[in-house]
Amino acid sequence: MALVKAAVIYGPKNIRVEKRDIPDPGDDEVQVDVSFNGICGSDIHEYLEGMDLATVSHPLTHMKAPLIPGHEFSGTISQVGKQVSQLKIGDRVAVEPIIACGKCPECLSGHYNLCEHSIGTDNAAGFLGFSANGGLAEKCNVKAIFAHRLPSDFPLDLGALVEPVSVAAQAVLESHVSAGDDVLIQGAGPIGLFTALMVKIAGVHNIIINDMSKERLDLAKKLGILDTLHAASPRELHELVYAKTNGRGVDIAFDCAGVQPTLAGAIEALKVGGKVTVIALFGEPPVVDIRTLLKKGGSLLTSYGYANKFERVINIIDNHRELFKQVITKKIKLNGLVSEGIEALAHDKKQAKILVDMKPD
Ligand SMILES: [Zn+2]
Ligand SMILES: [Zn+2]
Repeated sequence: MALVKAAVIYGPKNIRVEKRDIPDPGDDEVQVDVSFNGICGSDIHEYLEGMDLATVSHPLTHMKAPLIPGHEFSGTISQVGKQVSQLKIGDRVAVEPIIACGKCPECLSGHYNLCEHSIGTDNAAGFLGFSANGGLAEKCNVKAIFAHRLPSDFPLDLGALVEPVSVAAQAVLESHVSAGDDVLIQGAGPIGLFTALMVKIAGVHNIIINDMSKERLDLAKKLGILDTLHAASPRELHELVYAKTNGRGVDIAFDCAGVQPTLAGAIEALKVGGKVTVIALFGEPPVVDIRTLLKKGGSLLTSYGYANKFERVINIIDNHRELFKQVITKKIKLNGLVSEGIEALAHDKKQAKILVDMKPD
């Protein structure tokens, strides 16, 4: 048992930084001394509205709020459970924060991101930080199978990016993006930017990124995504995208924003036979213009979370460290989590990925 500093979410707009007891790891777990934990859009919604936070006992973890938030984290192993042989104290890891049963047909077929038992009866998300304690504490116990060893000189701040980059990687790999494709990305927040970097690395032809915020597009340009658009309506987007693609439209459009106009615009921008992949979690259910999609022979895919992507993503970030590093716009300490982290992300469009430095002072 160790008494550590942690953020604890009790409910909407109620996060407190306090001392918490972290038990020794279970037999199949390791204890991670957390180095960095990234803040993401779902953390903002968890804070503002209590979205996805377990309010009744989760079927797999038997936990509910108050809980330690945080699901994008890296750190160093400080204890190993009795049955763990593949990891040792001192190993540096990126944590895959998924909660899955390991026994249902989806888990057994490798799609453990869609585990039948991972979502709570109150719709709580099957992730650490929502239905179990997460990474916004100095220590966190995690299943050994979900602690992925980093190369010895891999920076731990980049280790905290492996989780959100895996969200983008899953969508890009499942969409079968090919070299030479023309791609549209709706939304230049962190997931949009990571998706842009993933398709750039995959060798596509045009990457067009569309966002309402000039600041976000400036960051995209810094990352080498030069073809930026600031389209007000789906129709305007159609015109601009067709002008940039020889009047053909794009092979794939990723919706990384998740509002009605971004999905409508993605469908409008498609070429014949193209596909839209939705990564964003919509706040409101959208209307889908099936007629336009049908007449283009297009398809609509969704991508939720990731499965078996961490090893590959660690390799990709390792090869492009300088590129990914630029998405980190600020590092803060835990005491500033709400004011300098969550509130800053919600209001300052110049921010992309904010990391909380969890190492003790
Ligand atoms: Zn996230
Ligand atoms: Zn399962």
